Amino acid sequence: MKKKTFLKTLAVLAPATHSAMNLNSLHNLTSTFDKTAKMPVLFLGHGSPMNAIEENEFVRGFRKVSSGIDMPNAILCISAHWETRGTMVTAMEHPRTIHDFGGFPRELFEVQYPAPGSPKLAKETQQLIQTTDVYLDDKWGLDHGAWSVIKHMYPDANVPVIQLSLDYTKGPKFHYELAKELSKLRERGILIVGSGNMVHNLRMVAWNKLNETYAFDWAQEASEKMHNFILDGNHEALINYQQHGRAFELSIPTPEHYLPLLYSLALQDKQDDIHLFNDQPIAGSLSMTSVKIG
Ligand code: ZN
Repeated sequence: MKKKTFLKTLAVLAPATHSAMNLNSLHNLTSTFDKTAKMPVLFLGHGSPMNAIEENEFVRGFRKVSSGIDMPNAILCISAHWETRGTMVTAMEHPRTIHDFGGFPRELFEVQYPAPGSPKLAKETQQLIQTTDVYLDDKWGLDHGAWSVIKHMYPDANVPVIQLSLDYTKGPKFHYELAKELSKLRERGILIVGSGNMVHNLRMVAWNKLNETYAFDWAQEASEKMHNFILDGNHEALINYQQHGRAFELSIPTPEHYLPLLYSLALQDKQDDIHLFNDQPIAGSLSMTSVKIG
């Protein structure tokens, strides 16, 4: 074959091969994980990093929820604390424990959560997501949005954990639609955990009520509306959170702690039960409300 003809042939073949691969991964993705009963999906309000080392009703709530779930093959966590340009998934064998906070006691910085990673789940996640390119990451690890809650659910660190990042250049609808593409993982024993806080305004924290069940009026108002939207399955209203006025603006001044909720809700099926737990406001401008779906 002449060089020119060869190149032409390649140019014609390339897009066809690409779309064939996409179709293949969409319809016939063979998982490296055995088929299981459908796993529930969680959204966990993580609150202060101190919850990692404190004994309180919230960590008891995390423990209780995991005790009612079959042992997962692995966990995929969408944490408020990993924002990137583009979507990334951690793909290392041994993710480090990241202490991504300041001004806390040394004891908290000494916590290690040595759960293994799962390069095979990372690759599978990369293949499952078709709406955008997903990049394999070997630098991140587990941030406190992931380990401060997962450590209470699986204290032996014997369940592999990977993280999926939040693309900070994208809006809520993008995140919701992307999350839907993860639904097959629920049938492969993968526990998907969104970790954030529905109401999260650190500038407005009532420092004198740090450990108290207390909500400012606007936090209370937004929480109640969010609860109703969640329980009614009104995801459209939750995606369009910027259209609900002042209470929502104050409750969600930046999107990163809220978006993990949309990831979890996007994975809800019609037959799933929905259950709120740790449903408490704290320090005026935070809520610990968590959701179990399925
Ligand atoms: Zn946080």
